[in-house]
Amino acid sequence: MSSHLMNTYAPLPLAFVRGEGAWLWDESGRRYLDAISGLGVCSLGHAHPELSKVIAEQSARLIHTGNLVRIPWQEKLADKLAAITGLDKVFFGNSGAEAIECALKIARALGHENGMENSSVIVMENSFHGRTMAALSATGSRKAQAGFEPLVSGFIRAPFGDAGAIENIAEQSHEITAVLVEPIQGEAGIRVPAPDYLARLRSICDENGWLLIFDEIQCGLCRSGKWYAHQHEAVQPDILTTAKALANGLPVGACLASGVAAEVLTPGRHGSTFGGNPLVSRAACTVLDIMQAENIPARADESGTFLLDEFRTRLGQDSRVKDIRGRGLMIGIELDQDANHLKQLAADKGVLLNITQDRVIRLLPPLIIDREQAEMIVESVIELISTTD
Ligand SMILES: *Cc1c(COP(=O)(O)O)cnc(C)c1O
Repeated sequence: MSSHLMNTYAPLPLAFVRGEGAWLWDESGRRYLDAISGLGVCSLGHAHPELSKVIAEQSARLIHTGNLVRIPWQEKLADKLAAITGLDKVFFGNSGAEAIECALKIARALGHENGMENSSVIVMENSFHGRTMAALSATGSRKAQAGFEPLVSGFIRAPFGDAGAIENIAEQSHEITAVLVEPIQGEAGIRVPAPDYLARLRSICDENGWLLIFDEIQCGLCRSGKWYAHQHEAVQPDILTTAKALANGLPVGACLASGVAAEVLTPGRHGSTFGGNPLVSRAACTVLDIMQAENIPARADESGTFLLDEFRTRLGQDSRVKDIRGRGLMIGIELDQDANHLKQLAADKGVLLNITQDRVIRLLPPLIIDREQAEMIVESVIELISTTD
């Protein structure tokens, strides 16, 4: 590995030169089944022919103009996202963390408009919202935060999945502007809350005049079997963050908002040099079109149900398996022991997966996997678990 890279990752000794659908090939021509999609990014698989063609064509025509002029593809993308989510306005940045920063700035700006000098946002234990300073401060992981203090202030933490805890905070504190929550927690090990949780948060926010912010950077864009995970519960947020799969690998993140939250940012208050450039915006438009045309939410739901059923049937009685969780194609299998070594072992067997929270096998395969590939994932994971003690 190059000694000139900062030591932020501990990558597997593995590099790929080509991909196609759910397959990747290394330099020696060996084929791997991708069950992690570059961390939930390449939902349409690798080298999708239609998307590759659009990116090549647009890159030959115009990549960047900056936001000092109108960008018609960005306007089109905003229209599409508004139609999918029912939200009103969109800001484009280049990552998930930037989408979160935008959401937090909106919450604070509204706080000031409402006379709150030191407003707070309620965030959850074990949440993940990104690595920039405010996103890191919102994140519920001491490991991620340790050594980077002082953190950004103005966050109150509550247990995930516990609406009663939020009600208690409401009774004690007054300078709160928003609740920020992942409808399904990703880095925490794929945690799906009880079916009424988001609805209860919605009514607490309504009663207290707070914004409800859903971070769907990982669970959104068809991953859970719906366009957005909160749509399983018919609950609308005021603000929604989305990123990872939006351009299937080109960097883009978006913060969507409705009502007062959609109006608070005005020229000069927020921005991004690269955000929503013609290349990423057109690519993202194509991704959304393909997801619609190929009925990707239903495919993710069907493949996810198959995988979860198989895992529950075949691993449900295994004493090494503590829990099997998920929705659509975001699946976590929690073991009773450290599982970090399984990443390399899986790669040795030709499958790419991820371990989170040390003990949880996390699967985020491309949403276009077929039945045969789903079966390969099942067999590989069961074989991997059989090697543990
Ligand atoms: C990945 C992720 C982020 C951060 O996204 P980046 O693009 O890495 O900045 C934020 N929230 C959630 C839920 C994520 O999964």
